[in-house]
Amino acid sequence: RLISPQAEDRQEDAIERALRPKRLADYVGQQKIREQLEIFIQAARGRSEALDHVLLFGPPGLGKTTLAHIVAAEMGVNLRQTSGPVLERAGDLAALLTNLEPHDVLFIDEIHRLSPVVEEILYPALEDFQIDIMIGEGPAARSVKLDLPPFTLVGATTRAGMLTNPLRDRFGIVSRLEFYTPEELGYIVGRSAGLLNVDIEDAGAFEIARRARGTPRIANRLLRRVRDYAEVKAGGRITATVADAALTMLDVDHLGLDIMDRKLLGAMLEKFGGGPVGLDNLAASVGESSDTIEDVLEPYLIQQGYLQRTPRGRMATATIWRHFGLTPPGRAAS
Ligand code: ADP
Repeated sequence: RLISPQAEDRQEDAIERALRPKRLADYVGQQKIREQLEIFIQAARGRSEALDHVLLFGPPGLGKTTLAHIVAAEMGVNLRQTSGPVLERAGDLAALLTNLEPHDVLFIDEIHRLSPVVEEILYPALEDFQIDIMIGEGPAARSVKLDLPPFTLVGATTRAGMLTNPLRDRFGIVSRLEFYTPEELGYIVGRSAGLLNVDIEDAGAFEIARRARGTPRIANRLLRRVRDYAEVKAGGRITATVADAALTMLDVDHLGLDIMDRKLLGAMLEKFGGGPVGLDNLAASVGESSDTIEDVLEPYLIQQGYLQRTPRGRMATATIWRHFGLTPPGRAAS
């Protein structure tokens, strides 16, 4: 799957780490959050304080983990990384928190999946840099207050709406990451190609960028697959023509839609007359979970105007009817 949310395996994980920009100045796009962070980080450093807690939300692959690492690097501190589902017991989080050094960054990915008991521990930690932990069991159990060093929590989630209000309220900096423009992604592809020693023309980089669903992770993934194609079929150099041929072979069409997108949109048109169709019905008809559709597949389709979310369900737009070679009915979403 070209658009799987996470790195696919250890090898991809290692490559991603190598391609990750390390400083704010190398982080392309997301101008608003970049400018904000620049000011807040400089101010926090000037006062020798920890940076305020940061919540980043947006679809997978847009650079949330990368930003967390950059925040730590710019603050000159360590980063500890974990994720919501991994922190099963209150003690797991307590152990992490008590091992932080002053001003460290704790990065919690998928923070909307924290269990309620763990979240409970987090509130006083975020607000007062204190935690209450229970020692012992039964009648002898007592609660002990521990002071923590001031630290910065960077939380990442695909949808801010899935966070509880008390948790969301404890973040001083809340920012939504946007899809990247083809120009920004073209720059990222060019930079990655340089790091991977790939021979690529600007037009080749742009062709990959244009078809990467606005997402750096996908752009980097496509670059590696197009490189394979170029090495075997085209003497190693990625031109626009080579990129187009490789992407077509990978089933990424001219709008940048892959098999899964087309399956989803095809089902909407063929089984549901273009909609409106409820999310659960749609999910069942393509054998995907509603969460995957909502978090991974549809944000880009909506942003590009291929799909609309209406009170009565999802609707395909006229562009998509035409993309599938069909005539849109009068009531198709415009
Ligand atoms: P997320 O945590 O949002 O799923 P990541 O931070 O893991 O996304 O980003 C995925 C990959 O995309 C990274 O390895 C990095 O190489 C690349 N990337 C993300 N954002 C940027 C950016 N702004 N500039 C350059 N590369 C980026």
